[in-house]
Amino acid sequence: MSFSLLIIGVGFMGGSFALALRKGGFEGKIYGIDINQETIEKAKELGVIEEGGIELSKTKDFSPDFVVLASPVRTFRKIAKEIKPFLKENAIITDLGSVKGKLVYDLESIFGNRFVGSHPIAGTEKSGVIHSVPDLFEGKKVVITPTNRTDPEALEKVKHLWNITGGVVEFMNPDVHDWVFGAVSHLPHAVAFALIDALIEMSDEVDLFKYPGAGFKDFTRIAASDPIMWRDIFLENKENVLKAVDTYIASLQRLRNLISSDREEELTEYLKEAKQRRLSLG
Ligand code: NAD
Repeated sequence: MSFSLLIIGVGFMGGSFALALRKGGFEGKIYGIDINQETIEKAKELGVIEEGGIELSKTKDFSPDFVVLASPVRTFRKIAKEIKPFLKENAIITDLGSVKGKLVYDLESIFGNRFVGSHPIAGTEKSGVIHSVPDLFEGKKVVITPTNRTDPEALEKVKHLWNITGGVVEFMNPDVHDWVFGAVSHLPHAVAFALIDALIEMSDEVDLFKYPGAGFKDFTRIAASDPIMWRDIFLENKENVLKAVDTYIASLQRLRNLISSDREEELTEYLKEAKQRRLSLG
């Protein structure tokens, strides 16, 4: 494939996408734009991009066939409006953002039917281009969120790009996406951040962070994720995140009641059911 591609936001995900395309045999030019000049230099040094810059107007010089938005999700709308005048008419735009829903429809209203939303279900708590890896997407689900406006050719090409990276494509409605990932991804991150916050609160007399067990470390690994990226995800998927948090609070309250009233049998059932569900994940 010798199309050219521009990544906007050359961090961990954007960098990994570029490396994965190269590994899969993508032969076209890969350009990058980032707000941080050092990131651009590092990305060139690591062979993630060939050329780059910090001005969105560079889009005009690069004249890309594909654009991939890979910065925090709340930057997408502004970037989209700024680059739109610089794009070729047949350019295809996609993104790697963790939130879809309204954002997809807003981007579609800026870019038209050649915008195709996508969300790779792969990642870690690490951020920055220095952590980019070429095999991040291999065998991992990639959720693509077409709408009834999406151009079939653009959809097919975005799917093809993901196939090159080794990702396994699945289609989902943008709103369903936000409900699903609000529950299985955004809620656990919120809980991990809140658990650390609770321990900070409880660390008045004794510094509890001196005694982290393996369970605590496992459970809170994702609280080391990038704050700006997660601020954007929580705010962009606010409605679903709030519903998920409320459901979680109710469940925690149920657990609290079972403990406070010594309801041994019911408490065992609550724990047993959770254990079974967790084991079924493998
Ligand atoms: P990251 O912090 O590693 O990279 C983000 C990059 O965007 C940085 O280099 C930053 O300088 C740049 N940036 C920030 N604002 C910008 C702007 N206005 N214009 C241009 N560049 C800008 O974060 P990441 O983990 O690579 O996440 C990027 C995107 O991928 C996010 O939208 C996130 O929701 C999504 N995502 C992340 C993961 C994950 O596990 N990290 C998984 C799936 C999807």
